[in-house]
This record gives sequence, C-alpha cells and structure tokens, in this order.
Amino acid sequence: MSALEQSESTAASNGAPPAGGERIAVENPATGQVIGHVDDMGPDQIGAMVDRARRAQPGWEALGFDGRAQVMLALRHWFVQNRDRVVDLLVSENGKTREDALLAELFYICDALGFWAKQAPKYLADQRIKTHSMLLLGKKVVLRYRPYGVVGVIGPWNYPLTNSFGDCIPALMAGNSVVLKPSEVTPLTNLMLADAALECGAPRDVFQVATGAAGTGAALIDNVDMIHFTGSTKTGRKVAVEAAQRLIPCSLELGGKDPMIVLREADVDRAANMAVQWSMSNSGQVCIAVERVYVEEPVYDEFVEKVVARTRELRQGPPGEVGKVDIGAMTFPPQVDIVRDHVQDAVDKGAQVLVGGKPGAGPGQFFEPTVLTGVDHTMKIMTEETFGPTLPIMKVRDADEAVRLANDTRYGLNSSVFSKDVAHGEQVARRLHAGNACVNDALMNYLALEAPFGGSHESGLGARHGEAGIRKYCATQTLLVTRFAMKREPLMYPNSAFKAKAFEKLMVLMWGRKPRKKR
Ligand code: NDP
Repeated sequence: MSALEQSESTAASNGAPPAGGERIAVENPATGQVIGHVDDMGPDQIGAMVDRARRAQPGWEALGFDGRAQVMLALRHWFVQNRDRVVDLLVSENGKTREDALLAELFYICDALGFWAKQAPKYLADQRIKTHSMLLLGKKVVLRYRPYGVVGVIGPWNYPLTNSFGDCIPALMAGNSVVLKPSEVTPLTNLMLADAALECGAPRDVFQVATGAAGTGAALIDNVDMIHFTGSTKTGRKVAVEAAQRLIPCSLELGGKDPMIVLREADVDRAANMAVQWSMSNSGQVCIAVERVYVEEPVYDEFVEKVVARTRELRQGPPGEVGKVDIGAMTFPPQVDIVRDHVQDAVDKGAQVLVGGKPGAGPGQFFEPTVLTGVDHTMKIMTEETFGPTLPIMKVRDADEAVRLANDTRYGLNSSVFSKDVAHGEQVARRLHAGNACVNDALMNYLALEAPFGGSHESGLGARHGEAGIRKYCATQTLLVTRFAMKREPLMYPNSAFKAKAFEKLMVLMWGRKPRKKR
C-alpha cells in the first residue's frame, strides 16, 4: 500500500486512527471534515529514514545531471497527467481555491521542475578561478560544488507544494537525497509525491516524506547534513539554533510584513487591483502578501474607495468548481484567532473597519476579507505578520514618510511601489530595506526563478531560486592542480637569508609606495 493510501484508508474508516502508533488527523479546513491520518514519526523512524536516504544518495549522485533531469521531467509529466487528483488533494487539505492550487502550486512546480532540470548543470558546473597571485603562476584553481548528502526540508501549511516540494527540486538536482517534513496540517499532497517520485524513476529512498509535528522536524535536523526551513520567524530561530549546535548549514525562508507604497502619480486603478489581489489571495496566507499599504495624501481617498468597492465584490466560501469563489478557507485554525486579535487590537486603538472584520460562517474556518483605515504603527496589524485576508491602509504626507514607515519593521521579505514615473518608483523601491521589491507590481518577482529570492532582517537567511538557490545545497571544494611541477620550488626548505631578503625586496617593490590621494 502506498504512503498516501495508508493515510486515506483511515479516512475511509470514519477517520478513526488505527490502534497502536500515534496518528495525526488531517482536516479539510473548509468543511471541518477529517480527510486522513498520518503517522507522527518519532526520532527512531526519522533516524532510520535518513540512514536509508544516505545509502541511496551515492547512486543518485552517480546518475549525473542528465539522469536526474530525466526523473524531474518525468515528474513534470506526471503532474500534468494527474493535475485533477493533485488539485483535489491540495484544495481539500489546505482549503484554498482551485485557481490558487492550479496556478500558485501546480504551475509553479511544473515550471520549477523544468527550470532546475535545465539550469542545475550550468549553476553547478566547475568554475575555473583565475588567481592574481604570482606565486601560483602555472597552477590551476577550480571551484567545485558537491552535494551535502542528505538534505532535510521542513515546510509550512500555506503552500504545501510550492513551499515544500519546491525546495526539494534543486536539492535533488544537486545530487542530494531529500527527506521532506511537510506541516502536520497539510501532509497529504507531499505523501502522494513520494509515490509519484518512485513511479517516475527516482531510486527508492532518494525522496522520502516524514510526517509528524514539531518533534519530527527537530529529529530531522538532528540527522541530516543540511536543513532548509520555510515557516515562521519564531520556529526559524529554533531551527537555526539546532543547526548551529550540529554545525550544519541552514537556509531560512521566514515571515514578512510586506509594505506597498502608492505614490501620488500612481495608476490608482492598478494599485488598488494589486492591493486587493495580493492581500486576499489564499486568504492572505502568503508570506509575500501585501500586509500594509501607505498611500500619499492626494490619491488616498480614491485608492480607498476603489479598494473597498473591489473587496466587497469578493466571493468567499468552500472551494468547489473553478470560478465559484475568490477566497477559500483559513488553513490553520489558530490563525483565525491571530487575525481576529490583530483586527480587534486595531479597532481598540481607533482604526475603522470598512469591509469585513470578523470570522466567516462555518462549519469550516473563514475570515472575511477585511479593509481597515485609520491605522498606525502602535497597532499589531501594521507591525506583526497577520497572515490573513486583511488590508490596512495608512495615509502619508509624502514618499519620505512612506519609506520611513515601510522600513519601520523587523522583517524584510517583499515590497512594492506604485508610480507612473517609473524612474521615481525605482528610486523609492531602492530605499526599501527588503530582500525584494517590485515597481508597479507585486509578488510577480517570485516567478523569476533565475533571480535569488530571500528575506533580509528577520525574514530569513539565504535564498531560494537563482544560482544561490541550488548552490546552498552543496559544499564547495576548491581544487588546486599543479601540472608542470618542479622538483623543488623557490619557497621550499631550506630557509636562507638570500631567499628571505629577495622576498622582502619584492614586497617593498610591489607595495612599499605610499598610496597617492585620489583627486
Ligand atoms: P511554523 O513555523 O509554525 O511551522 C513550519 C514547519 O516547521 C512546520 O512543518 C512545523 O511542523 C515545523 N516545526 C514546528 N516546530 C518545529 C521545531 N521546533 N523544529 C523543527 N520544525 C518545526 O510555520 P507555519 O507552518 O505556521 O507557516 C506559516 C509561516 O511560514 C508564516 O510566518 C509565513 O510567513 C512563513 N512562510 C514563509 C515563506 C517564505 O518564503 N519566506 C513562505 C511561506 C510561509 P508542524 O506544522 O507539524 O507543527
């Protein structure tokens, strides 16, 4: 029986976990129904899994880039052939709309599979290093990238594919085995992929899925050679400490409080559409969602009016067929409490709710699309990650005030600036202290797989995408090769006063002149 069938079989038996080991119930957040159970794997199981992954890795590495690319391309084909099954499962364990599952997950993963299959050999090719040192004349220096061995990937619940399996693809293409621990809230789609990888030709144990809660993630860090983590800043800090204890490398993609700035010369229609789209998409449970907006005074009223009108038109409910709803459920029940708390805190401190403002009707978990004005930086909704369908809008005097407020945060993930004067928009974007910034756009930078995407400050360490997004899964080896070697080089023993003086004179000749001041 496949990994996924095991989890589904419990659902078929009225959701009752089998007698024996610990099982975690997986719920459909849009209906509240239990749709499966998975094992809560402990340290022994994780240790054994990583041992198996370690044994499988040399064979996988030996397949070379072409062999591994074949598996990735077969997987892409599998995704397209099985798109309905994958989308159904994503929708039912996450509560997102079918459109979001199709575009932000399936489309991204298919694109990424082809991208890494093609680019990995280029990004990880040996690099010939030209050295300046005259003492190395005639010697060859080469930088190599070698897979770490077993990489652990820990993912969140908001994008079970994109933010979990998506990070496994470059790790696998680099020649590592991967053990993925998805969130306990959304493990089913990734379990399906463990079976799919085998079907598509991946050697057994090269890609495994470890189900369980926080303890499972901690056990994974205890065993692997490198860890990639996507999740909250709070947990990311713990992961970094654990990785430091073991002296293994880690990369962290963490939370954000992404600002949008609307300048007085902006196309207000486009800015309002973008603000609504990217604050409400996936119920706002997007690490790079627009979490707060600063609008210059002259266009503030017009912007607010347009945002309110568009937000009122949004249809929310349990996702069914395509085109039925715009916004689905909140995936993680405690997240509803966080959103409610941020809205209440803002209202208590004087904010006005123009649309929404409260949890939606059950039985699933929903929060109404919410627009707030009269907000400021004493409020959680402007300073802490809300991760819900909320759009707080603040009026500012000018661009300087907008930049100052946008940078008044401990995060630095994504950001956006709207201006019809593109040069001015770019100037303002360059002043933002965020790892990523868009002008007249939002979020779309995530699709530029050639460019590094990473957060600054408390939004993370390292990056996904681009060269950096695959080299992080490799140790480097710098090779120095001396081909035409003398039996004895001038620097070798025995030491002599003549040689020492000669080097001293050389040094004085090369670097002994006082630096001239530049005019
Ligand atoms: P969490 O930090 O709560 O959990 C992330 C993962 O870590 C889960 O699989 C979780 O397991 C696991 N975990 C929990 N505790 C530990 C531990 N001590 N050691 C190892 N693993 C552990 O994040 P959420 O799942 O709530 O995801 C939402 C957060 O993710 C938001 O802050 C969001 O901004 C961020 N995020 C960042 C992205 C980025 O690219 N920068 C992208 C997407 C989300 P379990 O769920 O089973 O408890």
